[in-house]
Amino acid sequence: MPKTQETVLEIDLSALKHNFEYLKSKLQENTKFLAVVKAFAYGNDADEIALFLQNLDVDYFAVAYTGEGVALRDAGITKPILVLHPLPIGFSSIIDRCLEPSIYNEKVLNRFMQIASDKNQKDYPIHLKFNTGLNRLGFSENEVESIYSKLNSSNAVRIESIFSHLAASEDLSEKEFMLHQINSFKNISEKFKTLFGYQPMLHMCNTSGILNYPDAHFDMVRSGIGLYGFGNSEKENKNFRPIASLKSVISQIHDIDEGETVGYNRAYKSASSMKTATIPIGHADGIGRPYGNEKGYVIISGKKAPIVGNVCMDMIMVNITGIDCHEGDEVIVFDASNTADELAHSANTISYELISAISQRVKRIIKK
Ligand SMILES: *Cc1c(COP(=O)(O)O)cnc(C)c1O
Repeated sequence: MPKTQETVLEIDLSALKHNFEYLKSKLQENTKFLAVVKAFAYGNDADEIALFLQNLDVDYFAVAYTGEGVALRDAGITKPILVLHPLPIGFSSIIDRCLEPSIYNEKVLNRFMQIASDKNQKDYPIHLKFNTGLNRLGFSENEVESIYSKLNSSNAVRIESIFSHLAASEDLSEKEFMLHQINSFKNISEKFKTLFGYQPMLHMCNTSGILNYPDAHFDMVRSGIGLYGFGNSEKENKNFRPIASLKSVISQIHDIDEGETVGYNRAYKSASSMKTATIPIGHADGIGRPYGNEKGYVIISGKKAPIVGNVCMDMIMVNITGIDCHEGDEVIVFDASNTADELAHSANTISYELISAISQRVKRIIKK
């Protein structure tokens, strides 16, 4: 790798392969694998990541919105793509681009069936989402009968899978509730079998579900964060390799006297003479204001340099007192050893939020 000269997000595809293989090693031979690549593959690079995974044996992809699925089709993804949170305005594009919608209530079901039959579709694959306790999206268990009679009235669509989502798969103190959710999902699938005479594909587990609830893998699992290198626990984090490194450079170094202030609103006041470095990354790049005022930090010459004062739109200033460094030197915001998970915790958030917020302004570099 040449020396970093600007803010870049380096993506290591060999780490992605490692994470995929680790997750696969937790599955039964014939359990399918769905890769969740919503939100630009959690801020990484949806096209590059999905194309790479398509060549490994990923069975399915999922995105949140229709536009994300269309972009993957444009990029050359030919495997099935589940759209987790489609809105009726996108239903026509869903069919035109062979995307598969998650259908989460009766209104959406009616609308999708209408559009599918207007477009002369037969057996168009749909996925029924059931709410088992997250209370976010999904039909409830007592709607199975009405779904059945609705679907019996037309052959425009066919149920490819039924699925649900765990509310706290990473939190073992919520195990009882997770088992309750899994049980209610099993009841739903039994009802289906009785009414329809067959059972569509079943899936429920996200990354932490895969790791913590091996009996709930059903026919397919859906992993996002694990692919990108995080296991949602200290123990599991060791088995994954973060795929992304966010790097930048020192633009300018300042000597600050005792009593001077740094940055907007004069939020930082120096207690003694010190040195700061200005780094070209700010809240418009995804390092939000909660990282300011010495909560967050970067790594320079192997040492932690805390962010002083407020995070600006395009810059942060960090305390480099006692750190041997120069203008133009490389800065690590996060990488495989100084993880995004740790940095996220410094500002009271989680890896998911930090990595998916790295804005499209930051140049992506793919390491093959
Ligand atoms: C985002 C999402 C996932 C992926 O969850 P991870 O914890 O990142 O593995 C799985 N299923 C649904 C429904 C999701 O929205």
